[in-house]
Parts: sequence; C-alpha cells; structure tokens
Amino acid sequence: MADVIQLLPDHVANQIAAGEVVQRPASVVKELLENAIDAEADRIQLIIKDSGKTLVQVIDNGKGMSVTDARLCFERHATSKIRTAEDLFALHTKGFRGEALASIAAVAQVELSSKQEDSELGTLLRIEGSKVLSQTPEVVSKGTSIAVRRLFYNIPARRQFLKSDPVEYRHIVDEFHRVALAHPQVSFRLIHNDVENFNLPVSNLRQRIVNIFGGKTNEKLLPLKEETDLVTIDGFIGKPDYAKRSKSEQYFFVNHRYIRNPYLHHALMAAYEGLIKEGTFPQYFIFLKVDPASIDINIHPTKTEIKFENEQALYAILRASVKHSLGQYSLSPMLDFEKDPTLELSYSETKEKPRMPHIEVDRNFNPFRQEQKSFSGASKKTASWESLYVGIESKSNTKPFDLVEIEDFQEEKTMDLGVETSEQPKAETFQLRRKYILSQLKSGLLLIHQHRAHYRIRYEEILTKMSDTQIASQQIIFPINPAFTHAEISMLSEIKEHLEQAGFQFSKFGFEGLEIQGIPAYLQPEAVEDLLKKVLAALEMELPDSYFSGLDLIAKSIAKSSAVRTGQNLGCDEQAQLLDKLFACKEPQLSPDGKPVYISLDWEDIENKF
Ligand code: ADP
Ligand code: MG
Repeated sequence: MADVIQLLPDHVANQIAAGEVVQRPASVVKELLENAIDAEADRIQLIIKDSGKTLVQVIDNGKGMSVTDARLCFERHATSKIRTAEDLFALHTKGFRGEALASIAAVAQVELSSKQEDSELGTLLRIEGSKVLSQTPEVVSKGTSIAVRRLFYNIPARRQFLKSDPVEYRHIVDEFHRVALAHPQVSFRLIHNDVENFNLPVSNLRQRIVNIFGGKTNEKLLPLKEETDLVTIDGFIGKPDYAKRSKSEQYFFVNHRYIRNPYLHHALMAAYEGLIKEGTFPQYFIFLKVDPASIDINIHPTKTEIKFENEQALYAILRASVKHSLGQYSLSPMLDFEKDPTLELSYSETKEKPRMPHIEVDRNFNPFRQEQKSFSGASKKTASWESLYVGIESKSNTKPFDLVEIEDFQEEKTMDLGVETSEQPKAETFQLRRKYILSQLKSGLLLIHQHRAHYRIRYEEILTKMSDTQIASQQIIFPINPAFTHAEISMLSEIKEHLEQAGFQFSKFGFEGLEIQGIPAYLQPEAVEDLLKKVLAALEMELPDSYFSGLDLIAKSIAKSSAVRTGQNLGCDEQAQLLDKLFACKEPQLSPDGKPVYISLDWEDIENKF
C-alpha cells in the first residue's frame, strides 16, 4: 500500500494550532495586551470595532521591535522571553510560548508597526493567513501597534461560531479588566466603535478598582495583606454585606497574572461562610506573589490555570488571612465554635509575623480531610471537643431518650455514618423526637439538629472526596433513564464533568436521552431523579460559571438528599459518631445552607430559669 502520511503545510499547522490560542476576539485582546505589558509599556490603548469582529488593535509605548524581530515574531515558537526550558521556572513575563502572534496571523489580517527607541525608522508589516504581504520602513513613534482585522476571515465555520456582539464584547471587557487590574501602574484606554469606554490613569490598586467598577466600590472594599515565606498576599476583598448574586467581580492574580483556581476560590468562600447569604458572592481582587519556581503555568494553553506546588498550604494561609481581614472589620462570625490555630495562623496582638513551619512540613495536608492527625485541625478540634466532657463520667448509654412518638415519621432506617468506632470515651447523648440529639457538656447542654448536622458532615466529606478526585461511585443494576427536556439536558451538560466527579456515570448523555449506570455511593437510586431536578433548579437560578460553584452545588445536593432525616431513629453509637464527626468539621455550627446546626445552654442560664 502506498504511503499515506504527509506533513501538513505550515499555514495549515498554524491554523490548527491557532484554535488553541485564539477562540474569539477576546483571546486576541488578551495576547496583545499581555505582549504590550511584557514590552514594558506604561501607556496602552485598546481599539475595538464591532466587538472585535472587525478590528482589535493594541497600541503601546513599549520597547518595540527591530526590523528582524518584527518579521520573526510571527513565526511559531518565536519568543524573546525564554531560551531554555529552565527559564520556565523563573518566568517574569506573561508570554513565553511564542505562539500567540503566529496563531493570530494564521487566522486574520494583521498589520504591525513597531519602532525601538534608538532607531530612526520603524517597520510596517502586513501579514494575512500566515503570508507576509509586505514589510516597509515607516516613520512611527516608539512602541508597537498591532491591528488584527477580520478575525477568522479564512475559516468561515469559526467566524460563524462567534457569539452576538454584546457577548463577544463582554468577553473583551473581561480580559481588559483582568490585565488592567493586574497593572495599575500602566494607563489604559478602551475605545469601542469610536467611543471611549474606559480611560484608566496610572494609579494605585484601590483607585484602579474604583476607576473600573465605579465610585461606590470604594466603601465596599477591605484591604487584605499577608506575608509568609511561601506567599505574599495583597489586595482587597468585599465586605460581606455587599456580596452579590453574580460572581463577576472575583479575581485572583498570581505574580500579576490572572488565574482561575477553584481550590483557592473555595478557601475564600470558606472564610466568608456564615457571613453571606447562600447564592451570593463576595467581590475579591487578590494578588498572590509566589516564587515562580513553585508554580507551573504551562498546563493550560491560554494559561489561566496554574498548578501550585504548595496548594494546600496556600489554601490555609489564604483562608486565614481573609478571615483575619473580615475579623478586623469586626464581622468575623460570633459563631466560631473553636478557633483552629493551625488554620488561623497566629495573629498575635504583637503583630508578629505569622510563622509557617508546620504548614511547610506537611505536604499531604488537605483542609477538607478531617481524618488526618498529623497537621489538620481535626485532631486538635476533637481534642478540645473532648475536653468539654472532662468531668463527666461516661456511661454506656442504653436506650435513646425517645419518649415522644410521632406517627407520620417514616420507617426507621439504620444510618451508616461511615466511621470506624472511635476508642475515645463517648459523650452521653439522647435522641429527642427523632430530630434532635441532646448532649451534656461540662458547661451546659447542647442540642443538635440531627439532619443539619449530618448534612454538614456529608457535605464536607463529599467535597473532600471530590477535591481528591476519589470518585466513589456505585454501579446500579437497572440503569436510570430520567426524563428531561432538551433544555434541561443542555444545562446538565454544562456540569457533566462535575457530576462525573461526584460519582455519576452516564451510559448515555445526549438529546436522545440520559442513562445513568453509576451513582454517588451515598445516594439511593430512588433519590437520583429528584436530586438532578434540584440541581437543575439551582442551575436555573444561576449558571455556575466558576468550576467550583458547580462542584459545590452538587456536593450540597448529594449531601442534603443523603443525610439522616428528621424522624430517623439513631442508635447510641450513631449519635456518638454524629457528634464526633460534626465537631471534626470545619464549620460545625452551620449547615451548608447556612442554618444553625446546634444550640447550647449554659448551666448558668439553666440555673437562672429556676
Ligand atoms: P510570547 O509572548 O509567548 O513570546 P508572542 O507570539 O506573543 O509570543 O510574541 C512573540 C514575540 O514578539 C515576543 O516574545 C516579543 O519579543 C515580540 N513582541 C510581541 N508583541 C510585542 C510588543 N507589543 N512589543 C514588543 N515586542 C513584542
Ligand atoms: Mg505573548
């Protein structure tokens, strides 16, 4: 048989590669703005026509390019930013792949003019579909201007896939905001269809935020500052009272690069837990500075996702410093059951620099995992929890104190809390009305809402598993074929990945129908359809745009529908386990939907009543 393999011509290879880098006009905006920053410009203009479909142009006053460089920059892997693979570990620039301009030039009509400071003349170069049309000397001012016209003019299918003008413009503005926020020392202008939409003078970060998001923003911001060996944190977080229904003003930057990181986002949301209404989101503008060698920005072609070496320690530090900042504003939850010194770090009044040694030692620390004894707060919490019982002798509690029988309760089910029985002496507990667990403390009485307590426990367990991607899935004998409309299926497809992470396995997933053959281990097959309906209802309220909120939503739904219910009889061991596990949770005092899990009564209060 004849040979069939051929090398693709360059312009075709470029077009294919362009698909990775250039998805829409906003991708061009991002790459051009970043190049201008890398060129050390301090004045950058972005000119847009028809939401970038007709024109994206960036004009900077940076260091410019030589005649040869102006030509070379459109070659694939042409970069001035790294020379060896090692340079990747000391990266101080946005770009490094040398791909952006080659990709853009493959799918648009590009005009570049550039001049270096010490040259008399600059260069004007026109390139179209990777073909250089002309290069001429030209009188231009110092810096670079790159105009990208008619994006995807040569790939009609991709051009067709562009969204409406408002949507594409929104994406452009998002990119513009990200770069402008990360560089307040640079002035920016954005002109769309000849109208100036932003004019941001050189300023400090706070002013930059206000200039972008409006004058009222100023009063909503709390400063955030933290310095440890591992990371320097700087920036602003929103006061809880101003949390909004939309997640649009949440920004993480690492070494001045905008990033998405669901895990750190969760750390932040954890710090706000109990302070904001469910379904609302705080603003944040957080800048992390870490050693470039401790991150890997190369895992994503458009580089908004990065990998940290010390992600878990960062989680703890970030959460602690946000809590601290909220606390300074005296909004920290009064409910805080027990301050965990390892998570809170030591913010002594002496303003001593927080020390990091324990955090650095334990690389396996997972803040979601409560079982670990080495560093996690769990062991400490359990310990202090036990100390509440000191002085109370432990009896082997026999029968639940269950005097009241209520008819309409469903039949009893045994509850599997999934814990090994602990050797610690158990606290004496009673179940009341098949709804509450009563327990005696050294200082008084504790009344725990059994469903909410278990809901909290399950939620944290599921999040741990999901973030470890240990997917606990059970195969079911009869696959489930829930009936969903097309609209519902397309909504579910947005979070399919999360559902799979949560333990769902789909044997069919499409408009012809849905077939589920594996479900989360905690879940009863009968509960599946209802659960998905609830997830859909929540999705309708707001499509989770961040990776994490999707996970969170599913974790909550599974936790809620699999938690012990009111009306379920719990044996003594189960009651004890419930207590143990609850107080090993990160936030035992609130259920995941923000309701109180327990109330306590001091002996003094009780005495006073008599
Ligand atoms: P990368 O940014 O990854 O190096 P690009 O394709 O974005 O790759 O750019 C290629 C090269 O072109 C850069 O390394 C830089 O040397 C040069 N360049 C691009 N834009 C500018 C600019 N605005 N000013 C000066 N040089 C630029
Ligand atoms: Mg670049």
